[in-house]
Amino acid sequence: MLSQSLSERVGHPVHLKLEHHQTTGAFKLRGASNAIAALTPEQKSRGVVAASTGNHGRALALAAKLEGIRAVICMSKLVPENKLDAIRRLGADVRIVGNSQDDAQQEVDRLVAEERMVMLPPFDHPDIIAGQGTLGLEIMEQAPDAAAVLVPLSGGGLASGVAAAVKGISPNTKVIGISMARGAAMKASLDAGRPVQVEELATLADSLGGGIGLDNRLTFAMCRDLLDDVILLSEDEIAAGIRHAYEQEREIVEGAGAVGIGALLADKVGVSGPTVLILSGRNIDMALHRRIVCGEAATATERVA
Ligand SMILES: *Cc1c(COP(=O)(O)O)cnc(C)c1O
Repeated sequence: MLSQSLSERVGHPVHLKLEHHQTTGAFKLRGASNAIAALTPEQKSRGVVAASTGNHGRALALAAKLEGIRAVICMSKLVPENKLDAIRRLGADVRIVGNSQDDAQQEVDRLVAEERMVMLPPFDHPDIIAGQGTLGLEIMEQAPDAAAVLVPLSGGGLASGVAAAVKGISPNTKVIGISMARGAAMKASLDAGRPVQVEELATLADSLGGGIGLDNRLTFAMCRDLLDDVILLSEDEIAAGIRHAYEQEREIVEGAGAVGIGALLADKVGVSGPTVLILSGRNIDMALHRRIVCGEAATATERVA
């Protein structure tokens, strides 16, 4: 979709890829359904398991349900009730274990070891990356003259898949990752030249939080080799993106989904040709969204208040 307001502002066409309208409210169903489709009948009979508090867990639960296979999503006690309900409603078996994502991962490891379930992680897996990559193929079909594609970046499954697809078709198109300044694990790892851990901080772009895994197998190298740049945004810049999406585009997006708009509004993207940006998700707490569009909440601390 051509954004009139952003195109006028930057002086060249800006297209929005509306992935927040995907079933489950984010692009994650692409990777989850591709990974499940690639399982052997024997693997399907063992069921799938993941630790995820967010959009991957939701997508995996739905993809498994559509295939009629068992899904277990492991989470810590800290996960809010509404997120639990969304995943339970999709028929997944939700396990609440411990007080952290690490505790939840231990339960995943136990289910893999003892019940031989198949783990499908949120980003560092070839079939997940390939599934997210279908988004890059669609972008190249819909906007073949794109000079740049702006991709929200966390663990890098989306950015790796999109960059591989886009660069395979159009090597000169720039692919730029965008993260929040607060706790950008991939950016810190790229700067260090190897996967590193960063402190996880509260951010409006909560779907971009979390590490890339110190034993990262695929997405670190793919982001290192394929991304042209990584841009970091302040909480104010993310809030401005959410607000602009609502007021100018009439779209409700979550913080992670608004970083492309935020980067353009902050004049942080040095590109002068047609630009595509991915609105990656819309699963934001609506009370928080209301405060942001009213200009009341622009930081993660206000978010908790
Ligand atoms: C998962 C997610 C991302 C980031 O994807 P990665 O593959 O982890 O980089 C961005 N936006 C939304 C809404 C997401 O759910």
